[in-house]
Amino acid sequence: MIDSRRMTEHFLKLVRIDSLSKKERAVALELQKELEALGARVEFDQAGEAVGGEIGNLIARLPGTDPSRPPMLLSAHMDTVVPGEGIRPVVEGDRIRSDGTTILGGDDKSGIAIIMEVLRTLKDQKIPHGEIEVVFTICEEFGLVGAKNLDISKLKSKQGLVLDCDNVGFLFTRSPSSDRLEFKVHGLEAHAGVCPEQGISAIQIASEAISRMKLGRIDFETTANIGIIQGGSATNIVPNYVYVKAESRSHSEEKLAAQTAHMRECFQKAAEKYSVEVKGKKITGRVEEKIWRDYDRMHVADSSPIVRSVLEAAKKLSFRVETKATGGGCDANVFNQKGITVANLGTGMHNIHTVKEWLSIAEATQAAEIVLETVRQFS
Ligand SMILES: [Zn+2]
Repeated sequence: MIDSRRMTEHFLKLVRIDSLSKKERAVALELQKELEALGARVEFDQAGEAVGGEIGNLIARLPGTDPSRPPMLLSAHMDTVVPGEGIRPVVEGDRIRSDGTTILGGDDKSGIAIIMEVLRTLKDQKIPHGEIEVVFTICEEFGLVGAKNLDISKLKSKQGLVLDCDNVGFLFTRSPSSDRLEFKVHGLEAHAGVCPEQGISAIQIASEAISRMKLGRIDFETTANIGIIQGGSATNIVPNYVYVKAESRSHSEEKLAAQTAHMRECFQKAAEKYSVEVKGKKITGRVEEKIWRDYDRMHVADSSPIVRSVLEAAKKLSFRVETKATGGGCDANVFNQKGITVANLGTGMHNIHTVKEWLSIAEATQAAEIVLETVRQFS
């Protein structure tokens, strides 16, 4: 049913339009034009202003041809990671890759191409469907802030799909909650050669804290990572400041709370150990911390209408689809948090966020067939 060649051509066109996070305007306007040509009403929300980007989330409504069916949401994100400018896609048999100097942008333009091909097929083949709400978000790769700033009151759908993960055949229905942690370590500046005993090294405090910290894979459902560390200005200065940014994730709220508390404690304890006396006054290392919830976990029941529809669609097409848990977070977490039940279906993109990224045309076509059949099944 799906026109694989047309979808591939469209995908190649989309990846040639640069769209780093906050710079999605060109691709958004192209998609607006294409959606309007299909008979959809298109608008942009205020998320672009909220995040300092070029344009907001694209919200399109394709009227249903069968009013007895409930509306359904289909979503993918328009932005890509770096290096993502001047992408020159190369087609080799079933594989589309970049020329090796950039990412491909299959994350997530494969999701967009699949959704657009499904809409085209519905129209061309006059397949009955309910109203379809399409949301192409901005800034997914920039902390999901497009989806976070999405005005959900504009949507009627209660169920839907995000197309933003790798293997076709995977339907991600569970993903973790995530905390972000920011630590500002304050030491005391001193000349490193003349009077180091009058200084407190913020680098030493941070190193000690991090070396005592449980990081990486904590258990089967919990992870933690220090992602950024910055500090110091010269070798002859005892550094008085280090900035550290970290994250923790878990499918279990209790384990997440414990991991986040553990990371905070490592910093506080390390800071307390370092002190100097200057002019009769005791000065101790100090850590300022900022901790916030990045996103809440996603837990979509296998019995929800959207999951049932996808599984039935796959069965009808004789494709294997299984529900899965992932350690990653995506727009689907935010949709679920906002009250729309959304699962995340694989598109056939591989090695994402690297210059070795590639897309399987066969897998993307299969994903499109599944989405098309899901729209037909959904009731
Ligand atoms: Zn993505």
